[in-house]
Amino acid sequence: MQKTIALVAHDHKKQELIDWATTHKALLEPHKLVATGTTGGLVENALNQPVHKFKSGPLGGDQQIGALISEGKLDALVFFWDPLNPAPHDPDVKALLRLCSVWNIPVACNRASADLMFGIQSLEHMHYKREIPTY
Ligand code: PGA
Repeated sequence: MQKTIALVAHDHKKQELIDWATTHKALLEPHKLVATGTTGGLVENALNQPVHKFKSGPLGGDQQIGALISEGKLDALVFFWDPLNPAPHDPDVKALLRLCSVWNIPVACNRASADLMFGIQSLEHMHYKREIPTY
């Protein structure tokens, strides 16, 4: 059954999200993808699959995705936010993550969580090998 999945990545995390989405293109293909503006353009090019693009995050895109959640129109969020660089729209980021908790929306904030959320890796069987980033 087709789900609506939102993809968002902060600037230093965009390449990681593109890599993840490209690796799992077949898994994402049947679903409706939505994203903040810049992330959406990159994902669309990388996957050659249409992505509904909201405003860029700093211009309100996170809030538009939050609105989808409150309207019951979002099934999952993959949000690679950047823990090492401040974002001008940090309140919006917090608000989006808060709505995920309020509405019990699955949200993955890093590659390991995304792999588990989409059943790519299994924690139960401890096959998961976590990549450690280098900064
Ligand atoms: P962007 O927004 O995809 O337009 O870069 C993401 C964000 O900063 O929340």
